[in-house]
Amino acid sequence: MRIVLLGPPGVGKGTQGRRLATERGCALISTGDMLRDAVARQTPLGMQAKLLMDAGQLVPDDVIVGLVRERSLEPDAVDGFVLDGFPRTVPQAIALDAMLAERSVHLDGVVLLLAPDEELVRRLSSRWECPVCRRVFNSLSAPSQDGRHCDDHPGTELRQRADDTVETVRTRLKVYGEQTAPLVDFYRSGGRLVGVKGTGPLDEVQIALQSAVGR
Ligand code: AMP
Repeated sequence: MRIVLLGPPGVGKGTQGRRLATERGCALISTGDMLRDAVARQTPLGMQAKLLMDAGQLVPDDVIVGLVRERSLEPDAVDGFVLDGFPRTVPQAIALDAMLAERSVHLDGVVLLLAPDEELVRRLSSRWECPVCRRVFNSLSAPSQDGRHCDDHPGTELRQRADDTVETVRTRLKVYGEQTAPLVDFYRSGGRLVGVKGTGPLDEVQIALQSAVGR
């Protein structure tokens, strides 16, 4: 199964994508996580991406498409994946279709998760991440057991992302509206889009997502 999760920053693509990929036994491909790993390893890509990411701007399409092309050929992703954070522009979506067509496969669905902007800003500014496994907690709605460390890595302190400041979040929402929201029409006109409400208890969003993507 090959699924794209679309939606603004903070809507829950990572959290729900992880649940869906685990349930379906396929790979979760998060371009944001891949870039953050490159930043942490201080690779040339990471150094180039860091400035753009910290400013809430997008990394160039060709760089991202190359990353996804390689990652999606890894053994765990060959038979299926959930894409979180990609595509983010119409050229990326066109490149994805072309990449899958070359492999004689196609997307099984695109799910648009939605939540109001105020909710997104509130969620992102209370979001804490495990630097080891990238599991995300929320100090208001879904804190870790002790509020400071990852439940799966009890020795690891959670941290906030550099781009989760209120100012950068506003920039990211603007960039989403300008560059990523056009994908809604792109996929809707191809009859591939299903909308799912990204608000409410995580388990309820998960159930709605499962029924949107089908068995
Ligand atoms: P995310 O974790 O999905 O919120 O992504 C964090 C940041 O990584 C974004 O604000 C962008 O700077 C960069 N990024 C992630 N995915 C993409 C993409 N598909 N295209 C361009 N930039 C991306």
